[in-house]
Amino acid sequence: MGNMSTQENKELTYDAIVIGSGISGGYAAMELCTKGYKTLVLERGRMVEHGEYPTANSDTWELPNNNKVPYEEVEKHYSKQDRLNWWVNQDNKHWVNKDDEYPYDEVERFDWIRGHHVGGRSLMWGRHCYRWSDIDFEANAKDKVAVDWPIRYNDIEPWYNYVETFVGVSGQKEGLKQVPDGVFLPPFALNCAEQHLREAIQKVYPERVLTPGRIANLSEYNPEIHKGKRGQCQSRNRCWRGCPYGAYFSSQSATLPVAEETGNLTIRPDSVVSEIVYDSKTGKASGVKIKDAHSGEEIEYFARIIFCNASTIGTTAILLNSRSERFPNGLGNDSGELGHNLMDHHYGMGAVAVLPGLEDTYYKGRKPNGFYIPRFRNIDEETRQTEYLRGFGYQGQVGRGPNVPDGVMGTDLKDVIFKPGPYTVSIACFGEMLPYHENKMFLNFDKKDKNGMPLITFDAKLRENEMKLREDGVKCAVEMLETAGCTDIRTFNNLTAPGACIHEMGTARMGKDPKTSVLNKWNQMHAVPNVFVTDGACMTSSGTQNPSITYMALTARAVDYAHKQITEGVL
Ligand SMILES: Cc1cc2nc3c(=O)[nH]c(=O)nc-3n(C[C@H](O)[C@H](O)[C@H](O)COP(=O)(O)OP(=O)(O)OC[C@H]3O[C@@H](n4cnc5c(N)ncnc54)[C@H](O)[C@@H]3O)c2cc1C
Repeated sequence: MGNMSTQENKELTYDAIVIGSGISGGYAAMELCTKGYKTLVLERGRMVEHGEYPTANSDTWELPNNNKVPYEEVEKHYSKQDRLNWWVNQDNKHWVNKDDEYPYDEVERFDWIRGHHVGGRSLMWGRHCYRWSDIDFEANAKDKVAVDWPIRYNDIEPWYNYVETFVGVSGQKEGLKQVPDGVFLPPFALNCAEQHLREAIQKVYPERVLTPGRIANLSEYNPEIHKGKRGQCQSRNRCWRGCPYGAYFSSQSATLPVAEETGNLTIRPDSVVSEIVYDSKTGKASGVKIKDAHSGEEIEYFARIIFCNASTIGTTAILLNSRSERFPNGLGNDSGELGHNLMDHHYGMGAVAVLPGLEDTYYKGRKPNGFYIPRFRNIDEETRQTEYLRGFGYQGQVGRGPNVPDGVMGTDLKDVIFKPGPYTVSIACFGEMLPYHENKMFLNFDKKDKNGMPLITFDAKLRENEMKLREDGVKCAVEMLETAGCTDIRTFNNLTAPGACIHEMGTARMGKDPKTSVLNKWNQMHAVPNVFVTDGACMTSSGTQNPSITYMALTARAVDYAHKQITEGVL
């Protein structure tokens, strides 16, 4: 076919193609553009410019139904997206995919929560950023689970420094080996009740450290460092609507504007990438095929290197759909591991309680974070558990609620309503999930979506290790609350399906051996050297930490490596 003549068409040829414009794709685009590569970002969703956040300045009473989405609308459009019953609201529903427009199938339930638009989930994320440590990178090898990571903390540490500096992560140094300290902006400090909790827990359980959540919100703004369209956080606590101040890290506020300024960036929204094209003569990928989401036109673009950042599941679907004589089961899938080892974190377990005794204290204003208690199980011999492998961390908050007792009316109500209610603590566990080969996603080639893409199907579940870990997570939460003098402690352990924690990972894992992994230690395909995967698909285990800052660090590292390979004439 006319590949050669098309390839000569300059308009279709770039130095680099990035698939996806979310957290990792935006980062890849920025790094490539600043290194001088003419870069095409292909994004299947619509264009969203920075500031185009329709509900960012609305008060709740200005939103229909007091911000709730009517039941009929949820049933029709968000039956999978809103399975947890809290996530889709009037203020953010424009960022959430409609299930009837973007269907997928499940052998086992999988809550695949996402939004297709420029910026991807960088507009919607919770912004928590925690480094991984060697406890995570060595875990598979020590436990003889799945395959060993091909990197250690030393390999990624300088890249954490690099991305955290640009991203702007507020946090408090604690000197913990399981979540190493980073390059931090000042923390959004604990409130008085959270501080009380921290001190009370530390007296009895010194290894359980309650620290301010480390988040990608600018507690301090430095225009020299925080380039793009950034500004200081106003603690409006409307982050997931999109921030007009650019106070939290998103593709719109941070990476894409910097990429754009270089003059090397082209973004093509509404471009559904269907496959990466393999050229058997060169042994490399020649480019990608897209379908225009509106016109249905099919176009092939060409590039020297390709970065896959369509999110774990999106990238894996594209790779599985990229079939050729050389790769009948998906691009780079010699190992047969593509689509397998699907992981997420799991939650839905923890405790809530009342914290009495601080009636004479209060706090002022809002803050964009709560607290974090990093993992403290199985981090050394002393903390070893015999029941299960790995561990869990907690996210939580303590707040003083309103005082509106049931059944009180008139002047009696006026008397009580002006007094604040008690402090209540909520502490929610985030557990590690092991990489099981049996947990997988695959494509059903007999069923197609509206773009002609085979339907993604999930078959993954939590297993015995996760169940045991959950019970311990609840038990430890109660211990800490009791220690702090809490009353009315109520536990919960509502099993969530994989996907619900929105940290999907693992389906094109990194490894040392091409026989058992898809990517090498540079996020480069073992079998197709000009294709890099730097979203969550690359992860060899899941850790307990929110993963996106690790994707960013791996992305910057992989672009640096690709650039060196190109400069040396290897790629
Ligand atoms: C409510 C919520 C809270 C979260 N909280 C945190 C947190 O506190 N900390 C944390 O680390 N993570 C958090 N996450 C997860 C975080 O958002 C993801 O880990 C992160 O966005 C993944 O980055 P990505 O680049 O891989 O994918 P995304 O940001 O999802 O971007 C992928 C992009 O690729 C596009 N795409 C997909 N398929 C195609 C295709 N075929 N062709 C072209 N384009 C395509 C998509 O439209 C999308 O724009 C949260 C997520 C949500 C929704």
